[in-house]
Amino acid sequence: MINLLSDTLTKPTAPMLKAMMAAEVGDDVFGEDPSINRLERTVAERFGMESALFCPSGTMTNQIAIKMHTRPLDEVICDVNSHVYQYEVGGYAYHSGVGIQLLEGCYGKITAAQVAAAIRPDFAWLPKTRLVVLENTCNRGGGSIYSLPEIQPITALTRERGLALHLDGARLFNALVETGESPEQWGQHFDSISLCLSKGLGAPVGSLLIGNASFIHEARRVRKAMGGGMRQAGYLAAAGLYALDHHIERLKEDHEHARLLEAALRESQYVENIRPVASNIILYDIKAPYQAADFLQELRKSNVIATGFGPSTIRFVTHLDVTRQMIDSAVEIIKTVRLSN
Ligand SMILES: *Cc1c(COP(=O)(O)O)cnc(C)c1O
Repeated sequence: MINLLSDTLTKPTAPMLKAMMAAEVGDDVFGEDPSINRLERTVAERFGMESALFCPSGTMTNQIAIKMHTRPLDEVICDVNSHVYQYEVGGYAYHSGVGIQLLEGCYGKITAAQVAAAIRPDFAWLPKTRLVVLENTCNRGGGSIYSLPEIQPITALTRERGLALHLDGARLFNALVETGESPEQWGQHFDSISLCLSKGLGAPVGSLLIGNASFIHEARRVRKAMGGGMRQAGYLAAAGLYALDHHIERLKEDHEHARLLEAALRESQYVENIRPVASNIILYDIKAPYQAADFLQELRKSNVIATGFGPSTIRFVTHLDVTRQMIDSAVEIIKTVRLSN
């Protein structure tokens, strides 16, 4: 089975499991889980930020950030393809009572000029613009990457206009291994950052919210209110610590694998509009009269599994559990797929 559905599917490796089994744990709601405390400290330090908060999911870290940065009747600005809008059940409205203004970015990336044009003037009948959310890498942008020079003007604008800036960095490390930029450089540009350990980094569960000490102190209460106060979750934090030490540099392999799949797709007569491949995600369309489901069905017969992103679009994701050998097989399968009329 060559499973290209998602980088969330990875199972802990043997040495990761060993690190988990050996974890020192305590009750984290009392602040007494040494492994969680170490993970939070390690990540905050790497980003040059004051504090971090371990959470069960990236949805929770994003939702806590929105809750923290806004008040009801405020408005959040983000790209239309962003995870906070598409895949978090409309939680921004449910948890925070805020509206959202969607921008049409380029492969999920928005510019300072677009944000500037979207900021609301101060009228009693308008929501108040309070928060900008960026995503790096952008999942629905085909794994596209923001570079720091693209972020800097957005940071400058939000600071000048008194807006908060949050980064959904579920796959931020995928971006950093490509650009060579450091976590610390990124930490300087955001009021809060959300990171996932359970995507490319290969941990089974867990995300982190990073920010300044008073922000994280208050975010801890919001996490508890959302039901995210876990007890001896140090077993999970240990997987995250292991991943931070061993699974960042190797993300480059996933990106190399993605480029090999892209090259094979370019040779397929059924494929068009492959979005620029920048990291571990490949987003492409199937040419009419065929549909994504036709192509996916043929791939599945050869044990290649992936998911549709709409009627004509398919997403492949490479990850820790997809080996070079599997990629070589997938390349052959993609090149030889034939669809019947
Ligand atoms: C996966 C993901 C999240 C968080 O998802 P969870 O499944 O809740 O951990 C947030 N943003 C992006 C871009 C993601 O891909």
